[in-house]
Amino acid sequence: MAASPEFDVAVLGGGTGGYTAAIRAAQLGRKTVVIEAAKLGGTCLHIGCIPTKALLESSGLYHKLHDRGQEYGITASDVAFDYERVAARRDGVVDQLWKGVQGLMRKNRIEVVQGCGSLEGGGRVRLDDRTIQAGAIIVATGSSPRSLPGIELDGHRVVSSDHATLARSLPASVAIIGAGAVGVEFATFYRQMGAAVTLIEALPRLVPLEDEEVSRALLQAFRRAGIDCRVGARVQGARVGKRDVTVQLEDAEVRAEQVLVAVGRSPNSRDIGLERAGVEVDQRGFVRVDEWLRTSASGVWAIGDVVGGFLLAHAAAHEGVVAAEDIAGQARIPMEQDLVTRCTYSTPEIASVGLTEAQARERGIEVRTGRFPFGANGRAIIHGETAGFAKLVADARTGQLLGAHVIGVQATELIGEPALARLFQGDAWEVGRNIHPHPTLSEAIGEAALAVDGVALNI
Ligand code: NAD
Repeated sequence: MAASPEFDVAVLGGGTGGYTAAIRAAQLGRKTVVIEAAKLGGTCLHIGCIPTKALLESSGLYHKLHDRGQEYGITASDVAFDYERVAARRDGVVDQLWKGVQGLMRKNRIEVVQGCGSLEGGGRVRLDDRTIQAGAIIVATGSSPRSLPGIELDGHRVVSSDHATLARSLPASVAIIGAGAVGVEFATFYRQMGAAVTLIEALPRLVPLEDEEVSRALLQAFRRAGIDCRVGARVQGARVGKRDVTVQLEDAEVRAEQVLVAVGRSPNSRDIGLERAGVEVDQRGFVRVDEWLRTSASGVWAIGDVVGGFLLAHAAAHEGVVAAEDIAGQARIPMEQDLVTRCTYSTPEIASVGLTEAQARERGIEVRTGRFPFGANGRAIIHGETAGFAKLVADARTGQLLGAHVIGVQATELIGEPALARLFQGDAWEVGRNIHPHPTLSEAIGEAALAVDGVALNI
């Protein structure tokens, strides 16, 4: 009889997806190891979600006091920022959460092995100085920023989100290529800090994956904020000079001190032994998985950015839970992309879940939508942030909620309610019947739900 493996579960990659999978596996009584090449917490904690939101907290506060204080009756002279301290606060936030993750590993008796692992097949993961044997392996190696052909990321004049997030100073002018989540969040940050920002997007609209009305509202808000938005503008190349960079478009040029390339991310699926272990990837390198996150190789699961779908930390964490439960023979609910909330921390914020109006129509569903502007919401007026709206998409025949799209202040906090309604397979009218506290921004969700039936009350 073969000896039982050293571990029940080995997780390759300790980012948000990987460490969450490890916690769930440990909760289910599985002896678990996490193999991490850099730092526990991965992209999200060290060069993604967390540090960028810390930066946006500083820029939002600076902008409000520096540019809008008078509106609120606040007079403050000499409002200024010290970027060294902005960066130090960012690092402090990351550090605090990093310690928390390390504590969680200890609490759950999860072994953490430092090193770069690769799959050997047969449940083995090879590291420089040891081989780990496990009953099940979860690949959670994440993704990395990619660039455009002919545009080299030098970390100085031409940067990726990794460089921009960890920078210790601020450019006076910046050209951002790509208006997905990374592009619009950094456009917000740099603009609020007073830099000149040009945002270049190849497709005809900003945040092209969001509902079209949301893209239109963001364009309007960004233009009002003084961001030079070029949509339908494909970048051809970039020339790096001594003091600046020139970005070439089809029929124009944009010059800036720095260029941020934000055109998407590539899966970290190379050089980790996937082929050796019989794990299939698609043409773009994303690991193929089913709804339980099982790969083509028996005994190997994969989660997070490396499997594609929405490259979002909370999607990765949820996939980690699904995979760990499946490994433990306790599979409950499979992964459903339509239930993943999407959050973008631009100003105004954007959040969505489920189908856009266009997607629902493409599926042949007869839809009804309800919309409520933050301009008619008391709390938004008090905040002084009235841009945007909440929009709900429902099945016209059954009333079932199919999607929710929010652009406006704290949209990312508001999306939880319609997301839960979708999980419960709820109807729009039920969301409208929920008694929302007053005065809160959440009332806009309730009103948008009532608007689906044409009975919004405060408009
Ligand atoms: P993205 O794929 O979301 O957006 C990239 C954009 O670049 C697209 O709109 C694309 O049309 C555009 N583009 C591509 N080539 C171009 C060219 N030659 N010229 C001009 N525009 C071009 O990628 P991203 O914004 O880099 O984000 C990467 C991933 O990380 C995404 O999946 C994103 O969801 C995730 N992310 C999420 C958050 C968040 O949820 N808050 C924040 C950052 C990143």
